[in-house]
Amino acid sequence: VSVVNEKLFHMTVVLSPTDSVYADIAASLEVHSTPLIARPRTPADIAEILVAYPQVTVRSGGHGGYEAPDGTLLLDLSAFCDIEVLEGGLVRVGTGAVWGAVAETLGAHHLALTSGDTYTVGVGGLTLGGGVGWMVRQHGLALDSLVAAEVVLPSGRIVTASAQQEPELFWAIRGGGGNFGVVTTFTFQAHPLDGVLFGTITLDPAVLPQTLKAWRDVMRAAPRDLNVTYLGLPGFGPDAPPTSQFVVGYGGVDAGSTIDPLLSLPGVLETSIGPARYADVLERMEKPEGEIAMVDNNSFADDFSDELIDDLVDAHESFGGAVLMIRYVRGALNEVAPDATAFAHRGAEVLLISAAFLAPDAPASEHERIRSRWAALAPRTSGLYGNFSPTRSDAITELMYPPATLSRLRAAKRLYDPENVLRQNHNVMP
Ligand SMILES: Cc1cc2nc3c(=O)[nH]c(=O)nc-3n(C[C@H](O)[C@H](O)[C@H](O)COP(=O)(O)OP(=O)(O)OC[C@H]3O[C@@H](n4cnc5c(N)ncnc54)[C@H](O)[C@@H]3O)c2cc1C
Repeated sequence: VSVVNEKLFHMTVVLSPTDSVYADIAASLEVHSTPLIARPRTPADIAEILVAYPQVTVRSGGHGGYEAPDGTLLLDLSAFCDIEVLEGGLVRVGTGAVWGAVAETLGAHHLALTSGDTYTVGVGGLTLGGGVGWMVRQHGLALDSLVAAEVVLPSGRIVTASAQQEPELFWAIRGGGGNFGVVTTFTFQAHPLDGVLFGTITLDPAVLPQTLKAWRDVMRAAPRDLNVTYLGLPGFGPDAPPTSQFVVGYGGVDAGSTIDPLLSLPGVLETSIGPARYADVLERMEKPEGEIAMVDNNSFADDFSDELIDDLVDAHESFGGAVLMIRYVRGALNEVAPDATAFAHRGAEVLLISAAFLAPDAPASEHERIRSRWAALAPRTSGLYGNFSPTRSDAITELMYPPATLSRLRAAKRLYDPENVLRQNHNVMP
C-alpha cells in the first residue's frame, strides 16, 4: 500500500500490508514503529520536512549504510538526480545521482570528475565526506572540484553555499558530511578527459614489502596522470582465490613510457592494462551485505616509509583473511591548505584501508586484537577517512578531524543545526 500526500511533501509512505497500525499513518502521517520514507521532489518539500521532524536521516546513493531509527524519517533524495552540463565545464549534479551516471553524461562532453572507484556510489555522501577517486593525484578530492551547493538548512532556509555566499557553510560541507543541511545540488568544475588506460598488475604476495617499497619510489617520481592502488584480497572460496594486485589508472590514452617502471617492479607476475571509457572503469559493486563480521580500519600516512610498509604488512598478515587497500594519493590533494576545507588530512601520501573478516560468532577479544594491532601503526599514521568507516562513535569523529577542525565544525553545527536534526552521520555534536 502506498499513500501519497502530494499537497504537502509528495511523500510516499510504504506500508506493510499485514499490519493494521499503518492505517493510522495514512490518516495522521504520524509514525508509530518504523521509519517513514519521504521522497521529496523540490527543495521546498525538504524544507517542510526538516522543520516538521526532530530527526531526519538523509539518503543519496545509500552506500553509507545509515538506517533511520524506528519512529523517525528517512529522506530519500533519489528524485534529485539531474545532471546538467553548463558553460565552461561546470556541471550541476543532483545529490541523488550516482557517480556512474555522472561519468556517462560528462564522458559525452569529453569531461570527467574525480569521484570514487564505484559506479553506484551516490554523489551526496561521497562528496560531503571527501571523495578519493581515480584522478585524486591530478584533481584532489571530489570536494576539491566543488564550486557551489544548494543547501536546505534545518531551519527551512534554502541557501547557496560557495566561496562568496555562506562561506563558513561551504567550508563545513567540504568534509563535514551531512551535519549541516540537506544538499540538493552541487555545482562542480569538471576536467577535460578523453578515455583512460586501466587495468591490473598481478603480484607475488611473497615479496610484498619489497614490491610496495619499489612502487612507492616509482609513484614519487611519476606524473600525476598515473594513479595506482594496491589491493590485496583474501580467498572467498574455490572460485575466488586470494589476489594481490595493483589497479592502475592513467588519465589519457597515450601514457608514453609512464607505466613502464611499474612493469618491472619486484614480484610482478602478469599485466593487463588497456584503453577504456572512464565510466566503464567504475566498479558496478553493490553495497556489501551478509553474515560475516568485519573489523574495518583506515588511516592516512604522510610518509609511506620503509618502516611503515614492514609494520603494515606484518599487521595485515596477523589479521588472517583481510582486505588491504593502499591508495597512493600524493599530488593535488596536498596543495590545499589543511584549514581551507573541513577535510584536513592534506599531508597524506597514502590512505591505508583494512577490512578483516571474522566469523559472525567471533569473540569480542578477536575484534579488539585487530583494532589494537592497527592502532599500533599510529606512530607512523594519522587520522581516519570517515567515508570508509561504517563505525560511528565520538572516537571515530575525533580521528576524522584534528582538534581545530572539529571545534570549528562544532561552531558551524551550533549555527546551522543546533538541535542536531541531522545526526545519522559521523556526528559533530553542536
Ligand atoms: C562499494 C563501495 C565503494 C566505495 N568506494 C569509494 C571510493 O572509491 N572513494 C571514496 O571516497 N569513497 C568510497 N566509498 C565510500 C562512500 O564515499 C561513502 O559510503 C558515502 O557515504 C556514500 O555516499 P552515498 O550518497 O552513496 O551514501 P548515503 O548512505 O546516501 O549517504 C551517506 C551519508 O551522507 C550524508 N548525506 C548523503 N547525501 C546527503 C545530502 N544530499 N545532504 C546531506 N547529507 C547527505 C548522510 O549523513 C548520509 O547518511 C565506497 C563505499 C562503498 C559501499
